[in-house]
Amino acid sequence: MGQYFKAINLDKREVVCPWCLNGGAKLWEWTANRQGAIFTLLLRQSSATGGGDYGGPEPQMIELTSDNAAETLNELMAKGLAREGMDMPIPSSSVVGRWAGDRVALVGDYDASGLYKQAKSFTNISEQLVEEWNRFIGDNVNLQLTYNPCSCTDSE
Ligand SMILES: [Zn+2]
Repeated sequence: MGQYFKAINLDKREVVCPWCLNGGAKLWEWTANRQGAIFTLLLRQSSATGGGDYGGPEPQMIELTSDNAAETLNELMAKGLAREGMDMPIPSSSVVGRWAGDRVALVGDYDASGLYKQAKSFTNISEQLVEEWNRFIGDNVNLQLTYNPCSCTDSE
């Protein structure tokens, strides 16, 4: 029971399936779980990068000792400053920013548009999204997504 939602891009005829992200499909589940944050990558729009951004300097966990601290910090700061505001062309094959400016909706299966069912024939980008999401998020397993292919795009 309950209404299920899929993220749908009407212009590109693409879909992100919540179950393929190993998540739940109800609006509350989209809202309260990390899968709801996928829109940050999909809708990102910028031609440049900076700290904490896609393509920006990666967060690094480095053990500083009294011997390497000054040198390592200077190195990290220089590395970060060198990338700040730099051009960051993202290949069109990437999912990062791919939905920016498009007609995008989280469509429920009770919606009269029929889009939810129609999306079965759309391109499911869930697997690629999980791969790029996890590369961006890094090693923090609590923030990573898991690709769990379901039968959502099988034809009936
Ligand atoms: Zn699926």
